[in-house]
Parts: sequence; C-alpha cells; structure tokens
Amino acid sequence: MARRGSGHTAKSAGKRGKGHLPVKTCAQCGRPFAWRKKWKAVWDEVRFCSERCRRRFPD
Ligand SMILES: [Zn+2]
Repeated sequence: MARRGSGHTAKSAGKRGKGHLPVKTCAQCGRPFAWRKKWKAVWDEVRFCSERCRRRFPD
C-alpha cells in the first residue's frame, strides 16, 4: 500500500453546486477556503478564510 498524504478523511468530496470556485489555503488555520463574492475585487490578496483568522495573524 502506498502512503499518501496524512490521515485526512475525504468526506463529501465536492460534487456540489455548479462550476468550480478557486480555492486557497488559509495562512492562519491552514484550511482550504473557496472564493467568495465579497472577495471578488481582492482575491489575489486574500490570505485568510475569515476575519477571525485575519485578526489572529500576527502581522
Ligand atoms: Zn482560517
């Protein structure tokens, strides 16, 4: 058996909704998050999944 990645369980792997949104990884909590309408203008600069994570990031 080949080992692949760490032990994340892939539940509900996305066949949901139409189209695919771009996804990034949060620089604070490390979780993936998808594009949102509110980030339309600033998506390139978005680094955090939420305001909460953004505030916690020491910078
Ligand atoms: Zn986050």
